[in-house]
Amino acid sequence: MQKKLKKKDFKKFFQDLKEEYKIFAPTRKGTITAYNFGTFDYVDDIKWLNLDRNPISSPKKLFMPDGEALFKFEKMGNEVILKDGEPEWKEKRVLLGVRPCDLAAMAKFDKVFDEAYDDPYYRERRKNTLIIGLTCNEMTDDSCFCNLTETGPDSDSGYDLLMTDIGNSYFFKSGSPAGERLLEKGYFTEVKPKDVQARSRKIAKTTRDLKSNNKIDLSNIKEALGKTYDSPLWDKYAKRCVTCGSCNMVCPTCHCFTILDKANVGKTEGRRVRIWDSCHYEKFAKMAGGFDIRPEKVSRLKHRLYDKFYYPVITYGQGFCVGCGRCIRHCQSEIDIREALREVAHE
Ligand code: SF4
Ligand code: SF4
Repeated sequence: MQKKLKKKDFKKFFQDLKEEYKIFAPTRKGTITAYNFGTFDYVDDIKWLNLDRNPISSPKKLFMPDGEALFKFEKMGNEVILKDGEPEWKEKRVLLGVRPCDLAAMAKFDKVFDEAYDDPYYRERRKNTLIIGLTCNEMTDDSCFCNLTETGPDSDSGYDLLMTDIGNSYFFKSGSPAGERLLEKGYFTEVKPKDVQARSRKIAKTTRDLKSNNKIDLSNIKEALGKTYDSPLWDKYAKRCVTCGSCNMVCPTCHCFTILDKANVGKTEGRRVRIWDSCHYEKFAKMAGGFDIRPEKVSRLKHRLYDKFYYPVITYGQGFCVGCGRCIRHCQSEIDIREALREVAHE
């Protein structure tokens, strides 16, 4: 189903969503800079909504929060009582303004947490969440490269509704019965052929801009990586990397975590928490007995790239980079993974 909504009526749509769901969306929270475009967070007032840019944080934190309590425990005499962790698992939420790269990232998370493993914490949140995507009407930053990963600027799955800004209105496409139900509200109107054309023109323009900005052929990147694991080309990137792990934290598809038990001083109560981890960190790959399979910085730096463009192709039949550009925008050492991939492709 396709409908359109005049921008002047968007507030009514927002208010109606708010009646039924907790709304999470790109916000103006935090300090907005040339490379930091706000956060993806709870929005209770439309004035904080920021649909202009894709924020530093992706929706991943809403499905796998950093520091979530998997369960709580309390010791009563000799008995240990277990309790549920985070209370918000069963909340109905809507994620509004999710860009195509992040929609693709969520589909990859499903592969890991709902297909390869059954993670009840993830599954519960995913089930209770409605997704409203937003196509990209412009290349919002020159670090974006979704054209190379084929994950944008348009999308054909992974959403309940997909919005496109076509000027005075938003063009909406439904992707599920739940999305269709939302389009039944009286303020949505029928689309005309000129609206469909306006949508196509916007997407085509963004696609052209992305292509002219990102001229790398990644079609054989897995094979090329297979031949360059021992290449000295990695050393110069490793010398620049300060192993801060920012690239992992902002990446919408990085999903490694570690688990800690946090107890109070008397050890009478506590929580088992899951916290985000980074494959760049020293000791990330240290095993029981003390053996470390990636003790060198260069091996950890390589691992991150191989874990986007090589290993997941073998495990899941697809790469795990969606070209959002966040790791480029937020690397402390200005390492651009496109440069490394270009070198690999030409080796
Ligand atoms: S590797 Fe970089 S560009 Fe690719 S999905 Fe992760 S943060 Fe985005
Ligand atoms: S953000 Fe840059 S410096 Fe930090 S770990 Fe990643 S590649 Fe290294």
